[in-house]
Amino acid sequence: PDAAGKPPLEVLLCSPRGFCAGVVRAVDTVERALALYGPPVYVRHEIVHNRYVVESLKQKGAIFVEELDEIPDTTAPVVFSAHGVPKSIPENAAKRNFFALDATCPLVSKVHREAEVHFKRGREIILIGHAGHPEVEGTMGQLPPGAMTLVETVADVETLVPRDPSKLAYVTQTTLSIDDCTEIIAALQRRFPEITAPHKEDICYATTNRQEAVKAVAPRVDALIVVGSPNSSNSKRLQEVAERNGCRHAQLVDRAAGIDWSKLDGIRTLGITAGASAPEVVVEEIIDAFAARYAVTVETVSGVTESMFFPLPRQLRELDKASE
Ligand code: SF4
Repeated sequence: PDAAGKPPLEVLLCSPRGFCAGVVRAVDTVERALALYGPPVYVRHEIVHNRYVVESLKQKGAIFVEELDEIPDTTAPVVFSAHGVPKSIPENAAKRNFFALDATCPLVSKVHREAEVHFKRGREIILIGHAGHPEVEGTMGQLPPGAMTLVETVADVETLVPRDPSKLAYVTQTTLSIDDCTEIIAALQRRFPEITAPHKEDICYATTNRQEAVKAVAPRVDALIVVGSPNSSNSKRLQEVAERNGCRHAQLVDRAAGIDWSKLDGIRTLGITAGASAPEVVVEEIIDAFAARYAVTVETVSGVTESMFFPLPRQLRELDKASE
């Protein structure tokens, strides 16, 4: 214990962690729209799956809805979330003359385009992903019903009955566990050796880098905190990756107030990371909460350096240019 009687705690901060380029772009899209047009700005679905981000944008005048029919006739901007939307959504927005701003991450749009190409070439498409996630709904909604089949597990692959095994392709959700996905792809390739794979894998750079950083830290710590919301796919995967790679207990925590201290008794080392939608201020809040109970030392464990950047949606860029 230090002079104040606090036990020592060595904190290893995973890097990279937190906001990815797609989240920065999506959040900036809403903020820019609020600044340019004033509130309200409507957002279909949580812009990114993080409660803190959504609450802060609400306070600035964003109104979140799940479906377009909740929006009255308006000239206010309508933003589509980073997860992407089925084709029917921009079509309906156009019918209602909405000023739509599409904050779909370009790396999700890339998967949409791949699926379309496969479809045009007459291939049946397997989507590896999690049922019910908005990204999966958006990707499936790029094509007519029946064009794409969702598989979530190796067991799902075993029971697949494709129309023509020589005309198959797969695409994936961008935020999967790399290890789970590798197993599912291996099962697909075992059963359907001719299946067409993506040119470059669909799991995005941010998901990959955050999982790798957790893998480096997990074996070195007694417990690991993932800062992120419970509906954030990539954050949940980080928690699983930690527990599968030698860390006794991993906890997904939205805010410091939500830390379950009872699970952290007797720890001497702690890893901290943050999902791609979790802001750094919450990471700082969590470190402060530990510093109130422990004599904390912080070391950053650095993996790859990221330099990805996505420009804002075209309409906002053009407006910027016009006002220069
Ligand atoms: Fe885009 Fe990946 Fe971030 Fe999702 S996690 S918004 S796909 S960069």
